[in-house]
Amino acid sequence: MSDKPNANRRKFLRQASAAVAAIPVVSLVGMSNAKAEEQAEDGHAHSYVNNAADADHADYSDGEKCKNCAFWGGGDSEWGQCFHADFQGVQVNAEGWCDEYVSS
Ligand code: SF4
Repeated sequence: MSDKPNANRRKFLRQASAAVAAIPVVSLVGMSNAKAEEQAEDGHAHSYVNNAADADHADYSDGEKCKNCAFWGGGDSEWGQCFHADFQGVQVNAEGWCDEYVSS
């Protein structure tokens, strides 16, 4: 019997594995950049507003802003990530607010 078919199959499987492994990395890099550019609009969820001064909600207290909320992940940026599940895929404003605010 010849080993040729097995060698060809091993070579094919190695090449296919390398190709499949490369695709998700490229896709994820592209997706993360696209998501980072989308900014939340007023009313996105939980009575969100881009400027806390516009909050018209019984739970709002002076001084509460996204940038001092426990869900804030934007550091010193004007727009940043909110780790609350209802704000995935958008950035919120550091000066914004929503009724899920948690003091950090
Ligand atoms: S959970 Fe916090 S950081 Fe996220 S939108 Fe509401 S107030 Fe802003």
